[in-house]
Amino acid sequence: MPWGLMGLEKPTAILSALLKSGRLPHALLFTGPAGGGKNSLARALAAALNCAGPDPGPCGACLSCRKIAKDLHPDLITLSPDGEDGGAKKDASRSKRQISIAEIRELRRVMALRPFEGRVKVFILREADRLGREAASALLKTLEEPPPDSALFLTSAAEDQVLPTIRSRCLTLRLNPLPLETILQTLAGQRGLTGPAARLLAALSGGALGPVLGADPEAIWDRWQTLNRILEAGRPEESLALAWRWALTVGEDRTGWSEILELLRLWWRETLRLAALGPEGLEGPPPSPAQSLWAGRLSPEVQERAGRALDRLAEGLERIPHKPELFWANYWLSVLQPGRA
Ligand SMILES: [Zn+2]
Repeated sequence: MPWGLMGLEKPTAILSALLKSGRLPHALLFTGPAGGGKNSLARALAAALNCAGPDPGPCGACLSCRKIAKDLHPDLITLSPDGEDGGAKKDASRSKRQISIAEIRELRRVMALRPFEGRVKVFILREADRLGREAASALLKTLEEPPPDSALFLTSAAEDQVLPTIRSRCLTLRLNPLPLETILQTLAGQRGLTGPAARLLAALSGGALGPVLGADPEAIWDRWQTLNRILEAGRPEESLALAWRWALTVGEDRTGWSEILELLRLWWRETLRLAALGPEGLEGPPPSPAQSLWAGRLSPEVQERAGRALDRLAEGLERIPHKPELFWANYWLSVLQPGRA
């Protein structure tokens, strides 16, 4: 089995069948969670279309497959609003640059040329939800009348934001989030990671393997522990001091803040699960004393206050990223409510 993509057996089986029957469409849209393998699958399909091996699929061994694996094949071209690796970064606060009409015109120009050395010239357009209207209408012509020997693969983690005119002209292949158990097994098998830190990574993964395979489990576990210490400290002043020291270590690092936002979201989600379902209901690590404490006081009012505070924090970090400490302090003042018994 040459595709070699963990957890993507179903979509690869569909693609193999389409290749075998010669019915693979010129335009495909891959959707699914960030880091869920959309780009890897599109690349594997590009390799399959140009593979010199006998089977329908990338053999991984021929010159063409090796060139694609090393990103050296002249007939595979990737366009991403944030540069080559834009889609792989799981940074919620990244700039929301759109794909421009000039880029689509250039894509159309190159697409009209014959393949340089392969059978099919493949274009991967990442984050197709970030195609501006003008760029999208320029792309429509290509989707309607694709040049011979060419294929266009679009990817998006936000399928509902891809323009309907684009969606209707592509075959959509949805990559579903992987089950928690599959993520845990992969973490154990590929990284030798088990225990609470592995559970934390899996719960944070959103069903995508990409981000967890590259993550630093110790650093994330440390942050989770810090969060728990802030929320279990006896007095609000102690909690605020802890939170403040944490903010200083993050500084203006946008990726750091978006990771913290994800941890906060998970913490509240898990604590709510703990309150509703007990420890068995948790997806992440076993409950901390802080979670048990807050699960006991999660009235609808507290839930709403914590939810609103988190929304304001996320908005503030997005709007004024160079003043994170301002929104951070407000967040904790709102959640902990010092001065209130
Ligand atoms: Zn090959």
